[in-house]
Order: sequence, then C-alpha cells, then structure tokens
Amino acid sequence: MSKLKIKITRQRKIILEELKRVASHPGADKIYEMVRLKLPKISLGTVYRNLEILAKYNIIKKLEFGSNQKRFDGNPENHFHIRCLNCGIIDDLFLEKLNNLKNILPKEDKGYKIIGYNLEITGLCSKCKLK
Ligand SMILES: [Zn+2]
Ligand SMILES: [Zn+2]
Repeated sequence: MSKLKIKITRQRKIILEELKRVASHPGADKIYEMVRLKLPKISLGTVYRNLEILAKYNIIKKLEFGSNQKRFDGNPENHFHIRCLNCGIIDDLFLEKLNNLKNILPKEDKGYKIIGYNLEITGLCSKCKLK
C-alpha cells in the first residue's frame, strides 16, 4: 500500500533474503538466528526493528495470531494462513474464493471506516491429524 521509499541497507537485504528462503513464517528470534550466521554482530533488537520497518512498507508481511508471538512472511502478496492448533505450524493457503472478502466488506459500518481484516484459519496439520 505504502509507496514511500525505504532504504534497503545491507542488514535489511540479508534479513529479507533469509526470510524469503523459508516458508515457515518464522518469529523474530528464529530470523535473528538465521541472520546472525551472516551478520554475527547484529542484535535481536536490530533484527526486530528492521522486520517492523519492512512490514510497515509492505515488503514483508507481519502475522499476528491472537496471543501468539508475531511471525513474519517474506511473501507480501495477499494470501491466507492456517495455523495448526496442536503444534502451531503456520502454512500458506491460497483460497481464491476468500479473496473476494475484500470486495464484500463495506467501506464503513457502525461509524467505523473499515481498513482491513485479520482472518485466522485453524486446523490440524497432516502430522497432528494422525495423532
Ligand atoms: Zn501440527
Ligand atoms: Zn504466508
């Protein structure tokens, strides 16, 4: 959404590369572990700050599921996520029918200007399903 310019520093570039390499939607601490292998001097706070900035500029997506830790997604395109209620794994779901949700939502309701939605799809992953 934001068309503002963001400076892609070396740190941000590496954080982005590492995040795009995995499909696991990792939290900041996992990303920190991955990034630290390439930038040994970086701190968790710096990684976290850069993740927040990249998310703000829509270069990555920040996922917030209830009380769980924030997770990050290297794919900023619109897609849905399913969270396993048992092990907490998060996977991508591409549900074309639900893409219409944006069009169905009114622009305003109850005096609110509606900006977006946060849809959580839950289930059991293929491993947990069998337990
Ligand atoms: Zn599971
Ligand atoms: Zn995703």
